Amino acid sequence: MFPTEEQTLACQSLRRFLDDRIEHAYLALDGAPMEKAVIQGFLKDLAGFGLTAAPHPEEVGGMGLDWLTHLMLFEEVGVSAMDIAIPILINVSGADLMIRLAPDPLRDRYVPPLLAGETSIAIGISEPAVGSDVAAVTTRARRDGGDWVISGEKTWISNGRFADFLLCTCATEEGLTHILVDREEHGFETRDIHKLALNGQSTAQIFLDEVRVPIENTIGVAGRGLQQTLVVFERARIHMAMWGVALARRALEESIRYATERSQHGRKIAGHQLIADKIATMATEVDAARLLAWRAAGLIDREIRCDTECAMAKWYGTEIAVNATRQAVQIHGGNGVTTDFIVERLAREAIIGPIPDGTTEIQKLLIARSLTGVSAIR
Ligand SMILES: Cc1cc2nc3c(=O)[nH]c(=O)nc-3n(C[C@H](O)[C@H](O)[C@H](O)COP(=O)(O)OP(=O)(O)OC[C@H]3O[C@@H](n4cnc5c(N)ncnc54)[C@H](O)[C@@H]3O)c2cc1C
Repeated sequence: MFPTEEQTLACQSLRRFLDDRIEHAYLALDGAPMEKAVIQGFLKDLAGFGLTAAPHPEEVGGMGLDWLTHLMLFEEVGVSAMDIAIPILINVSGADLMIRLAPDPLRDRYVPPLLAGETSIAIGISEPAVGSDVAAVTTRARRDGGDWVISGEKTWISNGRFADFLLCTCATEEGLTHILVDREEHGFETRDIHKLALNGQSTAQIFLDEVRVPIENTIGVAGRGLQQTLVVFERARIHMAMWGVALARRALEESIRYATERSQHGRKIAGHQLIADKIATMATEVDAARLLAWRAAGLIDREIRCDTECAMAKWYGTEIAVNATRQAVQIHGGNGVTTDFIVERLAREAIIGPIPDGTTEIQKLLIARSLTGVSAIR
């Protein structure tokens, strides 16, 4: 599996833009929560390189490229700023869901600005008592005349604070149903959750109190919410795999730089065998994780269902990032735990990856179930 010349050139040109224009501006924010205008500014700039639009069909404002190319570009953004990569991940996965399932008027209204980087979406499944067991959603939507009336609380919702609209997974008489709630038109309250890292973007609680939304805002068929979105989980999970690849690659690059500059015991620390071992292991794991993700992307591009391959890529990529960033801190010695060096931030960010979009444990249960036919989940 090798990138084409076009893919390589696209990544190189994006890399230059990220280095020259984005990373400095992002670092200047010093991890503070980004205002909506700031985050949309980054997204709009990056939309020019195809991020958010690349894998979607041209008739809805996309570029009609493949998922593999999109993921290569996504890796580059993650190497510079995971706080900016996450909104891209959510907007691309959310747009995919809208393109597949939304009725035409909603698709025509909400998808083009999303792909242009002008607006953001949030996907609300998780609740205070509903995490890995997504089927247990309790946020209730009841029919009242021509409307849904929604009450409940969502939590851990990426983009929550600044999203223009929410795809809210609700329990309805028919079963789980996705309903589009527009922040301005229908209203919902949010509160950011402060985490150990990645507070520039938003992970938020969302409160819905008797929110009235037209029945026409149903996304897909009422009651078929989970079954209809399994393919969207595939897309979200390969993004998470690339999240891991991006952080681990940055950790490796920073480690190589430091180990070839820093000397102890009369030589560059890269020349000590135990440091060389760490660098070789990190490099091998980055490549292995990337190849797993690329394989899954290749299957998606061939329209072959690949839950198992995406689950493998997700757990492996996010877990090797935890290892790689931890080793990068170790290679930096005392400097590694200071905010003067980027590796401490990478390590804090990496530890989050094995949780969203299905934890490592859940991915392994899914893989084992597909191999044995026996489910260990319930
Ligand atoms: C940064 C971030 C962003 C997120 N973004 C979103 C978002 O945009 N939208 C959204 O809806 N959600 C989002 N989430 C929520 C995320 O999907 C959940 O946190 C995740 O699914 C795990 O749920 P939980 O946190 O409730 O943990 P729990 O499900 O309570 O799990 C706790 C522990 O038990 C383990 N466990 C659970 N069940 C089993 C089992 N059957 N067998 C073995 N082990 C098990 C888990 O692996 C974990 O280690 C986000 C979370 C984070 C941290």
